[in-house]
Parts: sequence; structure tokens; C-alpha cells
Amino acid sequence: MADATTGDPAATRPVVVHCIFCDTANRVDLSRLVDGPKCGDCGRPIRLDRPHKVPEGSFDQTISSAGAPVLVDCYADWCGPCRMMAPALDDFAQRYAGQVLVLKLDTDASPQLSMRLGIRGIPTLIAFEHGQERARHVGAADLRTLEKLVGVA
Ligand SMILES: [Zn+2]
Repeated sequence: MADATTGDPAATRPVVVHCIFCDTANRVDLSRLVDGPKCGDCGRPIRLDRPHKVPEGSFDQTISSAGAPVLVDCYADWCGPCRMMAPALDDFAQRYAGQVLVLKLDTDASPQLSMRLGIRGIPTLIAFEHGQERARHVGAADLRTLEKLVGVA
């Protein structure tokens, strides 16, 4: 018999992301983005309906603790194809807001992590699930490719 009193625990998608303003770690439930999550320290909004810039130092924590699929765009500011595919990534982040955590990793600012991830070309898109790499794509990707990577298509 179904227990209707406990609710559905699978409906929550907790993630830990660092505030882009003050770098405080915040626990956010992706399934409740409509509530407009704010940083617990500085009070500024945490926008997860668009790619969230992740610093090297908090990457592992964010990936390993994510209770939702994660898509990471490993990019560089000078990279033409990265800029070219930015609208597709923005589109993806907006469409799957609340379901998928979309991160941007600046490879120039994160050399050690980039090496550990085996980044050999940019952009590299990596999908993570339960803290493990699920799939990756090297080179500019369109919306459909991103959906396949993450497995939401
Ligand atoms: Zn903050």
C-alpha cells in the first residue's frame, strides 16, 4: 500500500553551490527554484536557471553532493566555439532548470582540475550523474547534443 503521508523523497534535488558573489556554500533544492533561492550569507539571488560559474575549489563538493544530473561546460574566455555555443547552453539551462544543474568551469582559472578531468580541447561538455562522469563531448554542441549527453532527451 502506498504511503501518502511521507511525500516523495525523489522529488527533492538538493545541490550544493557556491555563491558567485561571496563564495559561501549554499544548499539549494533544484525542485524549488520557483521560490527564488538566495545566498544564506549575503542574501543575493542564486540563479540556477542559467549556467552557474563554479570555482575550482568547490567543484568536487558540488559534483559529489549533487542530487541531480550535472552538466559542466569547460570553457575559456578566448575560445570562439565556446562563445558560439553559449546560447545553446543558456537555452538548455533554462529548459531544464530545476532538473539539471548546469555549471561553467573556466579552464584557464582551473588548470589543475582541467588536467585531472583530462580536458584536451575546449569546449568540453561533461555530464555527471551520482558524482560520476556519464558522458562527454568535445567541441561546440547544440541543444540536442546536450540533451543526449545528460540523458534527458
Ligand atoms: Zn553570497
